Amino acid sequence: MRELRYLDNVATLELDAQTCIGCGLCAQVCPHAVFEIAEQKARVVERNRCMECGACAKNCPVAALKVKAGVGCAGAIIHSWLTGEPPSCDCTGGSC
Ligand code: SF4
Ligand code: SF4
Repeated sequence: MRELRYLDNVATLELDAQTCIGCGLCAQVCPHAVFEIAEQKARVVERNRCMECGACAKNCPVAALKVKAGVGCAGAIIHSWLTGEPPSCDCTGGSC
């Protein structure tokens, strides 16, 4: 199985540990095991696994998570993995 990693140091995921109430929903819904719950707080175990799907932020009851979901580059990388085709995210200006 492919390693659950995206590109290094590009994920927009932010966790506000002060606001987190440790409900564990983010860890339950994250498809890439980005979080663990310890001492009633969420902790980011591996940020580079985040594919910016937005599920954690959408399910957090206290808005302790922020992520720019639906970023085209992430979708392009995943599509490339699935199809074997070169990634194309329609970015303009040559930023990718
Ligand atoms: S955005 Fe998706 S992949 Fe990233 S941490 Fe949240 S649930 Fe996991
Ligand atoms: S869903 Fe929000 S409140 Fe619940 S553990 Fe995750 S970050 Fe904390």
